[in-house]
Amino acid sequence: MIYDFLVIGGGIAGASAAYELAKEASVLLLEAESTTGYHATGRSAALFTANYGCPVVRRITRLSADFFDAPPVGFCPTDLLTPRGCLTVAGPGEEAALDALIEMSGTDSPICRIAPEEALERAPFLRADRVAAAVYEAGVSDIDVAALHQSFVTGAKKRGAHIATNHSVTSLTREAGVWCAATATERFHGSVVINAAGAWADHVGALAGARAIGLVPKRRTAIIINAPAGTDCSTLPAIDFAGTDAYIKPDAGRLMASPGDATPSAAFDVWPEDMDIAVLADWIERQTTIKVAKIEHSWAGLRSFVADDAPVVGFDPDVPDFFWLAGQGGYGIMMAPVLAQLTAELCQAPGGPLTKVLAHLLSVERLHGASAVQTREEEDG
Ligand SMILES: Cc1cc2nc3c(=O)[nH]c(=O)nc-3n(C[C@H](O)[C@H](O)[C@H](O)COP(=O)(O)OP(=O)(O)OC[C@H]3O[C@@H](n4cnc5c(N)ncnc54)[C@H](O)[C@@H]3O)c2cc1C
Repeated sequence: MIYDFLVIGGGIAGASAAYELAKEASVLLLEAESTTGYHATGRSAALFTANYGCPVVRRITRLSADFFDAPPVGFCPTDLLTPRGCLTVAGPGEEAALDALIEMSGTDSPICRIAPEEALERAPFLRADRVAAAVYEAGVSDIDVAALHQSFVTGAKKRGAHIATNHSVTSLTREAGVWCAATATERFHGSVVINAAGAWADHVGALAGARAIGLVPKRRTAIIINAPAGTDCSTLPAIDFAGTDAYIKPDAGRLMASPGDATPSAAFDVWPEDMDIAVLADWIERQTTIKVAKIEHSWAGLRSFVADDAPVVGFDPDVPDFFWLAGQGGYGIMMAPVLAQLTAELCQAPGGPLTKVLAHLLSVERLHGASAVQTREEEDG
């Protein structure tokens, strides 16, 4: 059989693209692991936050809000978002950093100054002498990532897509306008390849003979610890700390903490470094009154970026019928609905509303030449 689309990668990008494309086409999704969602998608902080990332990322996240608030009928049995809120605290001398946050926040998800006393009420384990000023963003929500990802997979299947796990694509060849994706045991054929391989996207691009997009996977570490006795994790906000990338957030009755590291890495099944965990535990004890008696669980995942930190969504300019859906960085869950819709639009009905607004900002061409500068200027404007 020749599928209309071969989607490579079963994370949130591949699953959401398969869901959108399968509405009007035959789709086969190939995933290297035994389960979909095993890599970055299964390792995120699961936050929806409109005021995060570069301007084009924030624009895409805002466009995705409609899908999260009102997904298609029957898409998912549970709510995809649960209000969480995000507190950012600044220590003495760091107060100015909060002005920048307030300034860049949108009217749809404002970031507002609150008194240090209110910050301490919202997060009682903060040290009073480390909270000189604070802001609060009510619009931040928890994403039910497992439900979102599973609903894309199930929805794609209902639309007739096939999902094949344990199939790592090791070669891509094209003959007479048909792609052949070979894995260790089988060969699959399709008209268009969608490269949704996460941290491996440049590897898959190389298999197809495409020029690299310069993707850099960056390791981020996370740990789970117990919350201090008496902490109500259901009302606790996520907490950012001005002057550092570290954060703490509630996670299923416990606390997730991350140093916010972004260490360049090869693409592989990453794990956390002991030193990163030790430094984080020490930082938590200095910044808060939490005693890190035991690390319940730890993990690391890869957030993959190209040079301008915006995603890459579009056909390769040189390799026919080879489509990139990559470079989602630390925002791939919250951008997924719109990036998948844009993928379907560009593949099946170019010229639609998302194409007009986003295609030039996310194109592969912007990374390869003079258009890179132009795109940057348009975005800033
Ligand atoms: C610690 C951490 C916190 C984060 N927090 C957030 C957050 O709060 N909000 C948010 O929106 N985002 C967050 N992210 C980012 C988000 O997780 C990613 O942007 C997103 O999951 C990327 O999805 P993906 O499908 O592109 O990649 P992946 O989930 O990695 O999927 C790619 C898949 O492709 C498969 N693959 C690769 N090569 C092949 C091949 N040759 N053949 C077949 N299959 C192949 C892999 O096995 C993998 O399953 C976070 C990430 C991390 C690590």
